[in-house]
Amino acid sequence: MIIQPKIRGFICTTAHPEGCSRVVEEQIQYVKRKGRLTGPKNVLVIGASTGYGLASRIVATFGAGSKTIGVFFEKEADEKRTASPGWYNSAAFEKYAHRDGHYAKSINGDAFSQKIKSHAAELIRNDFGKVDLIIYSLASPRRVHPVTGQVFSSVLKPIGQTFTSKSIDAFRGEVKEITIEPANEEEIASTVAVMGGEDWEMWIDYLAKENLLADGVKTVAYSYVGPELTHAIYKDGTIGKAKEHLKLTADKLDKKLKDIYGRAIVSVDKAVVTQASAAIPVVPLYISILFKVMKEKGTHEGCIEQMYRLFHDHLCASSSLSTDQEGYIRIDDLEMQEDVQQKVMELWPMVISENLAQYTDVKGYCDEFYRLFGFNVAGVNYDAEVDPVVTIPSLCTKQEIPGVKDAG
Ligand code: NAD
Repeated sequence: MIIQPKIRGFICTTAHPEGCSRVVEEQIQYVKRKGRLTGPKNVLVIGASTGYGLASRIVATFGAGSKTIGVFFEKEADEKRTASPGWYNSAAFEKYAHRDGHYAKSINGDAFSQKIKSHAAELIRNDFGKVDLIIYSLASPRRVHPVTGQVFSSVLKPIGQTFTSKSIDAFRGEVKEITIEPANEEEIASTVAVMGGEDWEMWIDYLAKENLLADGVKTVAYSYVGPELTHAIYKDGTIGKAKEHLKLTADKLDKKLKDIYGRAIVSVDKAVVTQASAAIPVVPLYISILFKVMKEKGTHEGCIEQMYRLFHDHLCASSSLSTDQEGYIRIDDLEMQEDVQQKVMELWPMVISENLAQYTDVKGYCDEFYRLFGFNVAGVNYDAEVDPVVTIPSLCTKQEIPGVKDAG
């Protein structure tokens, strides 16, 4: 199959196995150059195949030498379609991890379900004994509740009032105005059900009940705050409500874990290009301006740089976790620097379609977006035939994990 990008709105419906593999390898090389960390031995990453979860898994493995179990929900290739990028990323990650002698196994399925939690628990019991670090990095548009069967869909809307703002169609190079009507109560509650902390708490409660949490276990989930410019759609919008719930859950879990000297914490990360952030209105334009400002200042970071800092400065640091007054780890510090935000605010009102290239790094945004799917990667011949069917070497299915009963 000759695989070329097919962009539909804010997603790409194809992915390139070789390109994805090279992007993973670049992240691994970055971590190896940064040097070794002393950290957790046994790590579970929920949402491990793309974005921040994949970068966390790479840092844990190639930085701290951790064994990792990765959970994700990705599509395998068939005769007509390529696999999803997270599938190719995970295949490449495992290949490189195994080559370097690291333990890495993966579970592909719905992390919100009890069945996948049981699979992960069984694998932890058999292979780790107990787990030291659990990264919770899911970004999903829907969740089937494992107890009630109710299907929740998340929305990205403001709360209380209509929001009108500039936005961008990055691939057409157009700046346009968008208006989004406020969410109703049901939409707010559904977004909290999908992206809030309930599922994280279910994971930790279940692993605790199964006696699989090591003394001193840490669990981290990710959030975003961002500047005033994005607050109506992010911090003060439906997703922000879900993130508030995530923080309340962290505080609750933190108390529960005290008995075993554990910690549950939310890390506020920087805005980066991922499949999840591409879907948020306004954010791609903000990121395009932010990238220009941060690249000029020499402080630009992507997922891997952010996650290396999270592990280096916090999760692997010998001192206790350092947080802000509200109890968040903050690794969005460089993004939120006053001079950076001031420059973004100066550029924002000036940007129009005609001057996009001058005032924003829309090219950098589009490049990174393509790279999420394995395109625009140096050294890959996109006109050459490539086999889309790639196996993930240690993908565990139910049958391969002894003792797992089908929990539905
Ligand atoms: P992403 O889209 O790159 O990754 C999402 C991951 O979740 C993938 O591994 C996917 O397979 C997995 N997933 C989705 N639904 C699943 C399911 N039902 N079962 C199992 N796995 C499932 O997203 P991301 O941007 O890396 O986001 C991860 C976290 O980081 C989110 O909480 C997000 O809010 C937060 N965050 C993102 C940004 C940003 O700019 N992208 C900034 C700060 C915080």
